[in-house]
Amino acid sequence: MNNRPMLEIVSLQKRFGENLILRDINLKVARGELVFIIGPSGSGKSTMLRCCNRLEEPSEGDIILDGRNIMSGTSRDLDQMRLKVGMVFQGFHLYPHMSVLKNVTLAQRKALGRSADEANARAMDMLDRVGLAEKANAMPSELSGGQQQRVAIARSLALDPLVMLFDEPTSALDPELVGSVLAVMKDLKSKGMTMLVVSHEMEFARETADRVVFMDGGVIVEEGAPEEIFGAPKADRTRAFLSRVR
Ligand code: ADP
Ligand code: MG
Repeated sequence: MNNRPMLEIVSLQKRFGENLILRDINLKVARGELVFIIGPSGSGKSTMLRCCNRLEEPSEGDIILDGRNIMSGTSRDLDQMRLKVGMVFQGFHLYPHMSVLKNVTLAQRKALGRSADEANARAMDMLDRVGLAEKANAMPSELSGGQQQRVAIARSLALDPLVMLFDEPTSALDPELVGSVLAVMKDLKSKGMTMLVVSHEMEFARETADRVVFMDGGVIVEEGAPEEIFGAPKADRTRAFLSRVR
């Protein structure tokens, strides 16, 4: 059994100009672990996720993915690494003029050099996994927001990521569509995917998260099991935040 963390954030700092937005963030995510991140708007949650695949360049610190420091290496290493870190955002960013299938095969063909047959087969497996195999030939505009988000998840999964980062994946969805996306995420977790999830879906966190991290002002204020953070938060700031969102 490999006990090395899948993802390690070590002494991460991020500045935007004069502003220190992330101050010494340290976090280890074990293989197959779902770490759930909560905190007020502007606390640095998105910036932290984006530093994990260098969509934002960290100012200080290291990001270790499966034992490899992604802060060193060539630009080719960086491209390879980005493929190993799946990311799903609030918006879905599907290509509107391409079918669902094409959306899921494109990066496989271009970035991984898979053959059309290989990419199609993998795409159909992943679309099946998110419950949308029958929509393979539909255009994104023919799908609901929840379905589009599930296609975005399938597209990431088709690249065989080591870890999946979710940044408020259900925030843009109508309430009745949220459940289908959370169900896909829960299924991913049950199949052993390592996940870092920023979301306000506290019920989902209670049921599914291994650990909950509360961020405020660019630091991790406290972390613990969901029952600890939601049931008996230690820090005043955590209590104040939870009483606002409940
Ligand atoms: P959260 O996701 O927790 O709401 P963010 O990570 O989006 O927080 O933002 C944290 C802080 O960093 C905010 O004050 C935001 O204004 C600032 N920030 C984020 N991105 C940039 C940027 N590209 N340039 C300058 N400031 C930024
Ligand atoms: Mg954010």
